[in-house]
Amino acid sequence: MSQQLMSQPVRAIDELMAGYAAGTLPPPLQCLVATHLAIKPENRSFVSALEDICGTALCETPAGPVHDRDAKLAAIFAQQMQPDPASPVVQCAVVPSPLSTFLGAGVADLPWRRVLPGVKEFKVPGGEACEAKLYWINPGRVMPSHTHDGSEVTLLLQGGFSDPTGHYRRGDIAIADAELDHHPRADDDEDCICFAVTDAPLRLTGPVGRIVQRLFGR
Ligand code: ZN
Repeated sequence: MSQQLMSQPVRAIDELMAGYAAGTLPPPLQCLVATHLAIKPENRSFVSALEDICGTALCETPAGPVHDRDAKLAAIFAQQMQPDPASPVVQCAVVPSPLSTFLGAGVADLPWRRVLPGVKEFKVPGGEACEAKLYWINPGRVMPSHTHDGSEVTLLLQGGFSDPTGHYRRGDIAIADAELDHHPRADDDEDCICFAVTDAPLRLTGPVGRIVQRLFGR
């Protein structure tokens, strides 16, 4: 079910939220949305969007309509956000639970790898239908121009960045697909830390990027 969803670009927040509520997203994306809601608990407007997109599926069962839809959704969320009792409790001001539990460490304690000047990444293990990475980008750093063969869903955890689709700050979710060619620029005021889930490799498109891509075969 999750592979079916991820075979198509996630084109809108509503679609992402609908997949989250239905529990059909791959675990990293379920975690991304749950962490978004942990940072912005007031952001429950997606429930109304769910009504438009998959309200029928959520509200009706073969036995008849379910009248306590909100309670049912709350139960779904509670179940998904429940950490594994065997997992250590991780306290991190930048990365709240459930992502910190998913990572198993605070953001400062992860084994970051420098991939470009001013850019570090940490590949989150365990992704099968998609790839999950954390990026740590220095203030003002511009990422290489790239596009996507699939979708890229990014949750901002600290600082912010801008691209042609807008300006994103902590708690915001940015969605990019194959139609977007962008080079996000980190805000100047602080390091930008974000959690990105992709279902296909990025494709570098700038003149330097194309050479790098040829060298590394991606
Ligand atoms: Zn991108």
